[in-house]
Amino acid sequence: MEFMTTTSSGTPGVNTNVTRAVQAYPTDEVPGSRATQVRPVPEGWQQQKDAEGRPLLQFAAPKKGMPPTHLADIPTVDRKAYVASLGFPGFRAAQLGTHYFVHHTNDPSAMTDLPAASRDDLVAKVLPPLLTEVRRLQTDSGDTIKFLWKLHDGALIESVLMRYPGRVTLCVSSQAGCGMNCPFCATGQAGLTRNMSAAEIVEQVVLANRALAHGELGGRARHDHTPDRVGNIVFMGMGEPLANYARLMQAVRTMLAPAPDGLGMSARGITISTVGLVPAIRKLAEEGLPVTFALSLHAPDDELRDELIPVNSRWKVDEALNAARDYFDKTGRRVSIEYALIKDMNDHGWRADLLAAKLNNRGRGWVHVNPIPLNPTPGSIWTASEPAVQREFVRRLEVAGVPTTIRDTRGRDIDGACGQLAAAD
Ligand code: SF4
Repeated sequence: MEFMTTTSSGTPGVNTNVTRAVQAYPTDEVPGSRATQVRPVPEGWQQQKDAEGRPLLQFAAPKKGMPPTHLADIPTVDRKAYVASLGFPGFRAAQLGTHYFVHHTNDPSAMTDLPAASRDDLVAKVLPPLLTEVRRLQTDSGDTIKFLWKLHDGALIESVLMRYPGRVTLCVSSQAGCGMNCPFCATGQAGLTRNMSAAEIVEQVVLANRALAHGELGGRARHDHTPDRVGNIVFMGMGEPLANYARLMQAVRTMLAPAPDGLGMSARGITISTVGLVPAIRKLAEEGLPVTFALSLHAPDDELRDELIPVNSRWKVDEALNAARDYFDKTGRRVSIEYALIKDMNDHGWRADLLAAKLNNRGRGWVHVNPIPLNPTPGSIWTASEPAVQREFVRRLEVAGVPTTIRDTRGRDIDGACGQLAAAD
């Protein structure tokens, strides 16, 4: 789930195909704001439409292009049998798991506990390389790295590694491309190329841990005592994670499994974000995993959200919020509502009030709102709300008793939002 603040040509704020559709709306705003309604439309590209003229939604991914099977694709209970089926002793699974998940390596020459004669063959079959680094961008301060990875079939995906005081977070991709066709999103433009395998999802974390172990992420001096290991994962890179459900779950289980079966991470450090695939949200709630769930809402009314998040034509705001509330009831985990504040599009005071009312109607203490400030992008309809309007939006939520925290959107300063690096290549 990401916001594009430049065109796919990579020219910030310059666009020749901008339709700035405005209409009057009730004037209940802070002084100085404009009583206008900007409609969400793609800038500089044509949204694919279905037979009824609505934005095309792709739920099923093409089967082609999937990578070779990797240890991380196999459920932990089946790994011994899997390695045995390849003609090697089953106990090699644990040895390979230690090399991969603990020491972040798939280099046979580093695996001296394996017999030299079969080492290369074993590693090639069980830990085939999945991600090749194409390039990386690093902030001046060095505490954020955005990686562009090439998958085995040439598809490009991204992940962003960020150091914060006391923690290291990785934003991961779950699909190559995306089928949700959001009009603001660089990833959605090209549609869905394919689902990523569980192991491709996990390898983003393994390679981030390798970069950390090699001291490649800066900012340690400023953020003292941060571990050099990814502790938090957010599924907010390319793709809609819940549209790749089975592989997502296998990846998450591998992240949670203790070594040598997995990365030994805490479920609470993993955030799964969705634009609102309601049946999959309900399925996730039944998994018994206390992961954090985030709903990318961005509008509390169907009229706007139908255009802003096309999947809203399938599952409406109230259905998504009901599923989110049920997630809290099932898991006890407070739900996050993501809300990018876009100037004159979704930042009106009445929308803050409507959002608060809809959340409070479903009870108290179950939800937290994260307004996301966009970068100012002159000339674009996808631009930052005025600071006073942002403050008013937050104030109205807080007055209504809804816990609200402006979210840090680190990484935007190196290349806008996720999706752009791959789009540019
Ligand atoms: S759901 Fe897909 S198209 Fe929509 S913002 Fe996320 S990645 Fe982009």
